[in-house]
Amino acid sequence: GREIALTAGGGASVELPEEGGLVALTFDDGPRRDTTSWLLEQLELREVPATFFMVGSRIPGNEDLIRQMKEQGCQIGVHTYDHVDVTGLSQTDFDLQIGKTRILLREILGEGNYWLRPPYGFVDQGVRTWSEGPIILWSVDPEDWKDRDVHRIVSAVTEHVKDGDIILLHDIYDSSVDAALAIADNLTARGFTFVTVEQLAALRGVSPQAGVKYHKFPAGG
Ligand code: ZN
Repeated sequence: GREIALTAGGGASVELPEEGGLVALTFDDGPRRDTTSWLLEQLELREVPATFFMVGSRIPGNEDLIRQMKEQGCQIGVHTYDHVDVTGLSQTDFDLQIGKTRILLREILGEGNYWLRPPYGFVDQGVRTWSEGPIILWSVDPEDWKDRDVHRIVSAVTEHVKDGDIILLHDIYDSSVDAALAIADNLTARGFTFVTVEQLAALRGVSPQAGVKYHKFPAGG
């Protein structure tokens, strides 16, 4: 394969296979000490990077996990401070949710462009105007929060995933972590390569724009 170095984000380089698709694992709602630390340990063993969209109120006390994410080449983004629907907010309240979380991340990780994933995927004109970065949604949603059935979650992803997909999971449930690792093993065996969302966009020649929603980055657009 060819080695692709990306200067943005985690700065990790990606070994691209000659064939097989690219896919991004994304996790919302964390960090949560037990589940996120186990997930990170297991992703590191597999050399699988992921993207974490974090809830700001969960950051204090978990700074070490966030540093660990970056060290492992993961991408870090924002999922509001209190896990609220950000549509219909005033600009002040939007900044309390998004800006405040970005400030926390900058204190831990330094300057960076911490992309937004709005809770529930809800976006309105205010969100587009004030996002100060791309809005990252998803293309594969196994609804892992619903029944916490590992087998069903794994099948819902592995039977439908395609090249360029962004997979939505939540790193606050044991069942989702177990499912994520099984998904990683299944897709790796099938020739898929895991990358962060930022790497996926870059490898597909897309420069994500502020205020624009992205669901996936398939080859050829
Ligand atoms: Zn969420």
